[in-house]
Amino acid sequence: MHMFGYYRPPHPGTTASPGAERAQSKADSVEQRLDRALVTMEAMWTLLRERLQLTDEELARRVVEVDESDGILDGKVRRPPKACPHCGKTIPGRFLRCLYCGEVVAPEPFA
Ligand SMILES: [Zn+2]
Repeated sequence: MHMFGYYRPPHPGTTASPGAERAQSKADSVEQRLDRALVTMEAMWTLLRERLQLTDEELARRVVEVDESDGILDGKVRRPPKACPHCGKTIPGRFLRCLYCGEVVAPEPFA
């Protein structure tokens, strides 16, 4: 039974199914990549802070400004839907390829 994120196999000694093991392996990989990205981001920030004499308060204010750029202060920046340049149909903003015609939609950095 799942409770507060803790998983216990239904019977003692039962091993996870191959599908569950793959999902766990993928989750571990994503967590490792996220950890690496966070370390890199912190390294970049400390380098910028030193070189440009910025402050943590300036970073905190900018984080709020970026977060609010989609109109909602929620720790995320939602990408608005966009029109496919080939077929013109509307696709989710986070998609890099049109769902309808397969056209690659040029990613806009931070847009
Ligand atoms: Zn399209």
